[in-house]
Amino acid sequence: MDLAAAQQVLKTTFGYDEFRPGQKAVIEQVLAGQNTLAVMPTGGGKSLCYQIPALLFDGITVVVSPLISLMKDQVDALNDNGIAATFINSSLDYATIQSRLQELRAGDYTLLYIAPERLDSQQFIQALGQLPIKLLAIDEAHCISQWGHDFRPSYLALSTAIEQLPTQPQVLALTATATEQVAQDICQRLAIAPDHEVNTGFARDNLDLSVVKDQDTDRYILDYLKANQGEAGIIYASTRKEVARIATLLQQHHVKAAMYHAGLEDNIRRQNQEDFLYDRVQVMVATNAFGMGIDKSNVRFVIHAQVPGTLEAYYQEAGRAGRDGLPSEAVLIYRPQDAQIQHFFIDQSEMDDEHKHRSYQKLQVMSQYANTQGCLQQFILKYFGETSESCGRCSNCRDDREAQDITTNAQKVLSCVVRLHARFGKGVVAQVLTGANNQRIRDLDLKGLSTYGIMADQRQKTVTELVDFLTAAGYLQSVGGQYPTLTVTKTGVAVLKGESQVYRKTAQTVKQAAPVND
Ligand code: ADP
Repeated sequence: MDLAAAQQVLKTTFGYDEFRPGQKAVIEQVLAGQNTLAVMPTGGGKSLCYQIPALLFDGITVVVSPLISLMKDQVDALNDNGIAATFINSSLDYATIQSRLQELRAGDYTLLYIAPERLDSQQFIQALGQLPIKLLAIDEAHCISQWGHDFRPSYLALSTAIEQLPTQPQVLALTATATEQVAQDICQRLAIAPDHEVNTGFARDNLDLSVVKDQDTDRYILDYLKANQGEAGIIYASTRKEVARIATLLQQHHVKAAMYHAGLEDNIRRQNQEDFLYDRVQVMVATNAFGMGIDKSNVRFVIHAQVPGTLEAYYQEAGRAGRDGLPSEAVLIYRPQDAQIQHFFIDQSEMDDEHKHRSYQKLQVMSQYANTQGCLQQFILKYFGETSESCGRCSNCRDDREAQDITTNAQKVLSCVVRLHARFGKGVVAQVLTGANNQRIRDLDLKGLSTYGIMADQRQKTVTELVDFLTAAGYLQSVGGQYPTLTVTKTGVAVLKGESQVYRKTAQTVKQAAPVND
């Protein structure tokens, strides 16, 4: 089987002239019989990577996908395209499942979509064992890794389930979000040779990233929507209550908005989702329950009204803008109190200590993203293990404020951190520097420190922000889980020794009037 056949299917069945980056390489490997990991950005076109081989292979391609609510739509769309596909998940009754299995045994289908939870059942694995499964495509494969941000125990059962099948199917794992560690983990668990990973890179050149701080959230959103009238977009918030509040706010301001969260009844959720998909409403206000697998190509913006818990989740959600490749925007509105909400979610969760610890660290990365003055795209790509140039498009690259030399203030902060011997976090550091005289500072006996009160002329909030900036810029490191403590990095030590300067964009530059051309 060769690529020409795949190209033919691309054209005749799906109506596309060319493969997108990565698709060709993935399909080529799959057709050559190799287990493969495909890492492609959201909207990159992962589905075709298994749908095309499915049509070329003898036997069945089983697609494992956590998106139960979308399975029916996905399968309907394939059927409309003349492709024999079906699905089995918990929304079906026993008799229907049995009859679909019967049809599968009779060779009626090329593609079978299943939810990972199916594999928790021995009976179902046995039923799968009776089918001629050629390819097992595992969508959202990062869910298999405990290092990932969306670990799902059912995914762990996958590798055992595969081993129990009488003939081992070929595996294609797909994800839009995998750090190097997660990619390694996926390869190891699914017996994929590391050099069979196809990674198209995470850069999304049509997505302009922005971080907005110190602005009133509601005002910002309303102004944004006014400036982008008629454009479709998603606004994410962390809690159902906040989702409902923002949706009501928008409706009061005559914006056509619907909402989506797990607390709404199924039929309402479905209706709202469809209203958004078919452009009957302009804006979807949602929790992270919305979006995985939603294929709406003309989403022009994604605004996070509250910071999410991890950079992986952020980039995945932000990436839902601009799937059609046209210029789009992703805005993060950052307020420290919203990071506290995420902190609270981790506190309250039932994760084990190690997992919690990792989650706190991921949250710190998110706060660094919000506080960096470097290129935002570069920050994200670096996190996923890629080196890149500055994008020139993000809010930091576009920031034309003049950078001020803040070395003296930075040295004050850094020396205070040194004197606190890595025992405290930014709260205590800011209190000591501003000379706070509260019970905690007295109890800890910190008033005698030489750095106590050396920034008493500044507000505690200003100093805390400076600490955040120094952390994001790599002069300080925040270590630990629930109560992270600060230490000075090597770059920070160089500043303390007077070997390098620190610059920060703070004041608005007064632009010179342009000279008149004659
Ligand atoms: P992903 O799963 O990677 O997020 P999808 O597989 O849902 O992305 O594809 C996103 C969109 O891109 C879909 O509308 C799909 O039809 C379209 N698409 C996929 N491959 C191509 C291609 N080669 N040319 C044009 N459009 C494509």
